[in-house]
Amino acid sequence: MISNSNATYNPWHAAMQVFDSAADILQLDEGVRNRAKYTERELTVNFPAKMRDGKIQMFTGYRVQHNTARGPAKGGIRYHPDVTLDEVRALASWMTWKCAVVGIPFGGGKGGVICNPKEMNLLELESMTRRFASELVGFIGPDRDIPAPDVYTNPQIMAWIMDTYSMHVGHSVMGVVTGKPLSIGGSKGRVEATGRGCVYVITEAAKHLNLNLTEGTAVVQGFGNAGSIAALLLVAEHGAKIIAVNDSSGSAYNPNGLDIPGLIAYKAETGHVKGFPGSDKIREEEMLALPCDVLIPAALENVITAQNAAKIKARIVAEAANGPTTPEADKILYEKGVFLLPDILANAGGVTVSYFEWVQNNYCFFWKEKDVNENLHDIMINGFEEVLKTAQKHKVDMRRAAYVVAVNRVAEAIRVRGIYP
Ligand code: NAD
Repeated sequence: MISNSNATYNPWHAAMQVFDSAADILQLDEGVRNRAKYTERELTVNFPAKMRDGKIQMFTGYRVQHNTARGPAKGGIRYHPDVTLDEVRALASWMTWKCAVVGIPFGGGKGGVICNPKEMNLLELESMTRRFASELVGFIGPDRDIPAPDVYTNPQIMAWIMDTYSMHVGHSVMGVVTGKPLSIGGSKGRVEATGRGCVYVITEAAKHLNLNLTEGTAVVQGFGNAGSIAALLLVAEHGAKIIAVNDSSGSAYNPNGLDIPGLIAYKAETGHVKGFPGSDKIREEEMLALPCDVLIPAALENVITAQNAAKIKARIVAEAANGPTTPEADKILYEKGVFLLPDILANAGGVTVSYFEWVQNNYCFFWKEKDVNENLHDIMINGFEEVLKTAQKHKVDMRRAAYVVAVNRVAEAIRVRGIYP
């Protein structure tokens, strides 16, 4: 298993490196470049929560707003032992570029709490979440900064944040978070949106490469929300075979294809993929190097690196996760001719349907799932076409192209708004 706690890898430095390469192509002047590059506001809170034994435990949490030139900050909250301020900065900046590349009227934000949710019971999670949310009350809001789920956070946690915020301001505020349960203003299709959006752009990439997904094989690193739904839809809607997956506790490998609905049910019951009947285990390094059509990194940052990129045999790498590929690995993949669907495009389905949820909350009028998915499809396809066209025009890889589209839109918003006062 690869951990993102590699001491030499800093996701914020990696994010700024990619930003700079796009800003160079756009020949951004220094003022606009710096305004777009650095974070706007950063909040660090050290806060207490009550544990099951009645003792008080201190936690550290972050919320970062990277850029709000195009709209309120938007981005998930992550619960993980390895969360750092630099990771949250990087994730917030990727949200800015993601919203811009698919043309959604939001800026970028992100949050995180250093904790191990796997060792906490529901009461402890609720106690920690509510106290963290109350620390954020003056910082977030439906017109200011709108959190959503990320790694190890879910609709229940969003419900506690929505409730805590609402109690503070004295009335229910549905639009303060997205990814909520349907019963309190969640959107149909939100849970599946990241995986679904990822499959929409994989389909377009396959068409572009003349690759038949029906006979195709895929590998998923990180069988969580984004990874399992992408796997499920590749099988159910395209007839592809998923030959290997893993998660934080193990792996499942079957060269003839895994039973994905069965594996999802097995993971829901046991909490892991290892030991799934009819599968063997496989080490992550071997799994990433399997010959396949599509490789979907869907866990954490720093997975495809200078050490393993040359061994990757996939035709398409679709980044359901944020930041799974290091800048050094990017170059190697490009030179090998691997077609990369960069994170800010490939996983933009999540924030797109979060945007739909926020629109539905503002209107108090809710859409059918069919309408959610059709609108998601249009936005993802437009994003893909725009990025591909830009890659061809500037003769650059898809990541640089996505950043050129996104940074250009943010820079334009900064210029046209001007500098206050
Ligand atoms: P999740 O918590 O549902 O799933 C994460 C999965 O990764 C889990 O199955 C976990 O076991 C696995 N994992 C953790 N560490 C691992 C390791 N070292 N090796 C292999 N597997 C490991 O989270 P998610 O919401 O699916 O998020 C996954 C990625 O997708 C993150 O990078 C997140 O930022 C990104 N993302 C998620 C959304 C969303 O809407 N959920 C939207 C955009 C991007």
